[in-house]
Amino acid sequence: MKRVSVLGATGSIGQNTLDLIRRDRDAFEVVALTAGRNVDQLARDAREFCADLAVIGDETQLDALRDALAGTRTKVAAGEQAIIEAGARSADWVMSAIVGFAGLAPGLAALEQGATLALANKESLVAAGALLLDTAKRHNARILPVDSEHSAIFQALIGEDPASVSRVIITASGGAFRDWPMEKLSTATAAEAATHPNWDMGQRITIDSASMFNKALEMIEAREFFDVSPDQIEVLVHPQSLVHALVGFCDGGLMAHVGPHDMRHAIGFALNWPERRALPVDVLDLAQTGTLEFEAPDLNRFPPLRLARHVMEARGHSGAVFNGAKERALDHFIAGRIGFLQMSEVVEEVLTRILHQSGLNDDQITLDTACKADHLARDGADAVVQELIG
Ligand code: NAD
Ligand code: MG
Repeated sequence: MKRVSVLGATGSIGQNTLDLIRRDRDAFEVVALTAGRNVDQLARDAREFCADLAVIGDETQLDALRDALAGTRTKVAAGEQAIIEAGARSADWVMSAIVGFAGLAPGLAALEQGATLALANKESLVAAGALLLDTAKRHNARILPVDSEHSAIFQALIGEDPASVSRVIITASGGAFRDWPMEKLSTATAAEAATHPNWDMGQRITIDSASMFNKALEMIEAREFFDVSPDQIEVLVHPQSLVHALVGFCDGGLMAHVGPHDMRHAIGFALNWPERRALPVDVLDLAQTGTLEFEAPDLNRFPPLRLARHVMEARGHSGAVFNGAKERALDHFIAGRIGFLQMSEVVEEVLTRILHQSGLNDDQITLDTACKADHLARDGADAVVQELIG
C-alpha cells in the first residue's frame, strides 16, 4: 500500500486527488489531510479515508473539527505549524495542493522526510525553487510536476537526453478575456475573471489564468523544473487547451502532449508514476475536435509574461518577490480596490523597488529568506496600492 497525504485536500486539486484514491481504495493508506478553513469537507474526507491525521489551518475551528471527528481514529490539530507537521508525517507520496506561498513550508517538510512530492503548488517552486530542489536532493526525495503543462513536459522528456532539448513550449488557453478588447479589460471584475473557458479550478488560479499571471508563474516553474534557460521557454496561446505543452529537440522535432482538460490526468500520472495506469478521464476524439488553433501571445495585453522573463533572468529572490506581490495584488483586485490591469502595474513596481533594496542575500535561498522576501513583497504591494488609490 502506498501511504499518501494530501495538503490542501478540500480544494480543487485536493478533491480530484481524493477522487482517484477513492477509485483504488485498497492501494492507498491515507496518512494526513489538511485544509485551510473548510471543516465540514475535511471531516467528511478524514472519515471516509480513515486518515491518521486531519489538520485545519484556522485555529478557531479546532473544536469544530474535533467534534466532527469524535469517535474516529483520526487525530486532529490546527494552525500553520500543525500543517507543516502534517507534511512532515512519514508518507510515501504527498500531494502539495495548498494555494499560494503557504504551501512552501509543508512541502519542504514532506521532502525532508523523503517523500515523493506531487507539486501542484507552483508558487513554492517560483518563490524558492533552488531550496525545494536542493532539499529533495539532500533527502533523496523526488518532486513530480502536477501542473498540466509541466506534467506534459515531464512526460515528453521520458527517455530523452536532456542535452538534446532545444526549447519547451507551454500553452495557455487565453483565459476568460481572450476575446475582450483591451479597453474593456480595465473594467473587468473578479467575478468575470473567475470563470475559465476550459478548466474548473480554484478561484485564485482562474483569475491568474485570465491575467496570464498563471502562465508567468508557469514559465518560472518550467525554468526550475527542467533546467532550461529563459530563452528556451516559450508560451503559445491555444484556446482548446488540449495540447498542454510541447518539447522541441535539436533535430527540429517537437513532441506534443495531448490530453483532455481534466486535472486527474496529471494528478494520476504523478500518483502512479513510474507506472502508467488507466484513469477515469475522457478519451479524446480529435476528429470530433476538428481544429487545434495556436497563436502568439500579445505581450502588451499580458505584461506578466514580460515580467516573468525578467524574474527568470534575475533569479535569486526575485521569484519570491514576484509571487508575493502577485498574491497581494490579486487580494486587492478580488476586494475591488484595484482594477484588473493594475495587478501587473503593482507587481512590476514592487519588483523594481524591492530588487534594488539590499538585505536579501541572493546567493542562497532559505525558508527564512524566502519568507522575508515574501513579506517585503506583500508590504510593498500594499504600499503601491495605497499610492494608486490615493
Ligand atoms: P483551491 O483554492 O481550490 O484549494 C486550495 C486548498 O488550499 C484548499 O484545501 C484550502 O483550504 C487550502 N488553503 C488555502 N489557503 C491555505 C492556507 N493559508 N494554509 C493552509 N491551507 C490553505 O486551489 P486549487 O485550484 O486546488 O489550487 C491548488 C494549487 O494547485 C495552487 O497552487 C494552484 O496554482 C495549483 N494548480 C491548480 C490547478 C487546478 O486545476 N485547480 C491546476 C494546476 C495547478
Ligand atoms: Mg497549468
